[in-house]
Amino acid sequence: MPNRRKFLRQTTLGSFGVLTGSLWQSACNAQTLPAYKPGQPMVISTWENEPANAAAWAALKEGKSALDAVEQGVRVPEGDPENQTVGYGGRPDRDGRVTLDACIMDHLGNAGSVCCLEHIRHPISVARKVMEDTPHVILAGAGALEFARAKGFEEEDLLTEASRAEWEEWKKEENYRPIINIENHDTIGMLALGSDGNMAGACTTSGLAYKMHGRVGDSPIIGAGMFVDNEIGGAAATGMGEAVLKTVGSFLVVELMRQGRHPAEACKEAVMRIIKRQAYQDIQIGYIAMNKAGEYGAYCIHEGFDYTVSIDGQHRVLNSKSYMK
Ligand code: ASP
Repeated sequence: MPNRRKFLRQTTLGSFGVLTGSLWQSACNAQTLPAYKPGQPMVISTWENEPANAAAWAALKEGKSALDAVEQGVRVPEGDPENQTVGYGGRPDRDGRVTLDACIMDHLGNAGSVCCLEHIRHPISVARKVMEDTPHVILAGAGALEFARAKGFEEEDLLTEASRAEWEEWKKEENYRPIINIENHDTIGMLALGSDGNMAGACTTSGLAYKMHGRVGDSPIIGAGMFVDNEIGGAAATGMGEAVLKTVGSFLVVELMRQGRHPAEACKEAVMRIIKRQAYQDIQIGYIAMNKAGEYGAYCIHEGFDYTVSIDGQHRVLNSKSYMK
């Protein structure tokens, strides 16, 4: 499969001539995105997710809340069978089961989450129901499915032919190693700031491809995969969830912003905490963050992490700065 991220990077570079590193990045960012103005809505998400950002943007323009916007936004990749890392069509675990993780958080600090949920196309909407209709934050596995059923969600087979065929190929190697390389991480984490100044976040994934059955990553864990504090801002993570969990990454990014760091610097510090503690050559981690002033940024371990920013109705895929080129 052609690598769409690399392709995009090359074509974008073409239009700006021969610029390298951060010089190229700042030139690219400055020329393609309008400046944020206070009171405007704004959306930011991990990876190339323009259709998701566009759906979130449309919700905000209709006067819906930031919470509605992030839910509607991330439902786009959840429902897209071509996206093999989120929702319907996601790659299965090593037993061939598609198990989904998602969480959502509103501007009041309310949160909901589902872990290891099977057969439901839109785990983010189940997570929202957990937040709104139960006294709990997390429902897992069979209990989450039972709850989804009770709430009227339809059950279906989420394993598409394409994902099944890849899994059959993977099984031939008989060597248990979940796919953790750079090109297989596409969890969508999304943060939205409404024109009322309220922020919300959502994060949803099928997790690491070919993981052990029952494995849960960072994405549905509030403070690890995503965190919003409406006084400060929000952050979301993608990549090797175990490393994000052990450093409570998204909470860390928000706390660093509270201490005055720019979102990009806060993301970098959270990545550095991982780099200081463990071997990072074979893992990718990327963080995105946005503060209440509409400042935003991202940082990752290995070059190749893109993120999507929407300001003033325009959606742009930007290249994150990275620790390793
Ligand atoms: N963070 C996700 C997980 O560990 C995977 C990813 O972002 O690709 O489940």
